[in-house]
Amino acid sequence: MRYPVMTIDLNKYKTNIETLTARLSEYHTSVMVVTKVFRASPPLLKIINDSDVAYVADSRLSNLKTVKTTKPKVLVRIPMISEAKDVVRFSDISLNSEIGTIKALDDAAKDIRTIHGIILMFDLGDLREGIYYAADYMDDVKKIMAMSHVRLEGIGCNLTCYGGVIPTPETLMKLIVIKDHIEQETGTTLPVISGGNSSGLDLIFSGKQPLGINNLRLGEAFVLGRETAYGKPIKGMHDDVFTMRAELIEVKDKPSYPEGLLGVNAFGEKVHFEDQGIMTRGILALGRQDVGCDDLIPIDGITVLGCSSDHTIVTFEKGAYQVGDILEFKLTYGGILRGMHASDVEKVYV
Ligand SMILES: *Cc1c(COP(=O)(O)O)cnc(C)c1O
Repeated sequence: MRYPVMTIDLNKYKTNIETLTARLSEYHTSVMVVTKVFRASPPLLKIINDSDVAYVADSRLSNLKTVKTTKPKVLVRIPMISEAKDVVRFSDISLNSEIGTIKALDDAAKDIRTIHGIILMFDLGDLREGIYYAADYMDDVKKIMAMSHVRLEGIGCNLTCYGGVIPTPETLMKLIVIKDHIEQETGTTLPVISGGNSSGLDLIFSGKQPLGINNLRLGEAFVLGRETAYGKPIKGMHDDVFTMRAELIEVKDKPSYPEGLLGVNAFGEKVHFEDQGIMTRGILALGRQDVGCDDLIPIDGITVLGCSSDHTIVTFEKGAYQVGDILEFKLTYGGILRGMHASDVEKVYV
């Protein structure tokens, strides 16, 4: 076996997909499974394809290009105008906020004689993508509806991504007001009202999600088994679908405080050290190129002290591990993302 290794437990992911989609169907909420954190990896995609999930979603066309599925494919990062041709080829629906880009999608869709779905995004205060909710949007809506090769599939919002705004009934009601306004003004019904990401789950489970929201786009909840507004675990789901294992290349007893004149580390950061006397220190052949040290969640009595590009320094009880031993960690969302993209990290599906 080559190390470092990221192990991906397919049964656990399957359990997470089945548990959460079953639970959400009780709330009449359809799901877009977001696959960006694992680059739409085929073994995981197969589980999604075999499930009741309604849509497959990703932020990148480079991932969506590889996705083979009969479910509608959704691009969740608002498109670049320069990629319009590929957007309509490799996705069925995209999230959008710019009328110029939507016009480019309409033209591109016309060229290949297809109809592309648009979910118009509204910014309810988190300050990432979307038309500001209090702005005048009806002009754009009417322009979209007048285009021949795009179809207004619905509206959506994204929260707890940039501004850290947590979904509450008051905040999500802003989206419902927009839905009602558009439906009255245009005499149509919007099929999809997409209320956000994994941070919306706590509100749903508490029964306080405003009526009218009928879709969520979920990535993290499926890979880490939790909602993300408060970080609460979801019953029956796993937080260790993805784990990282790395090999110890040095184990020695050394002081815990550096000696000599102290400057900054290899990344220009001033590091704070606490003098805890002599400790057993291990070095793993794993570094920031593979995963950040804050992304490693230790199991088995290990503490992560820090890392550089190619080394991660840990401490543990004297005698607990030797050179050549393999240490295992759970991962944060960022750790899964980085590990899946790191070419030196072996991926093993079990
Ligand atoms: C990544 C992303 C999601 C999924 O977010 P999770 O927190 O992983 O559930 C949903 N919508 C958009 C627009 C995204 O970029």
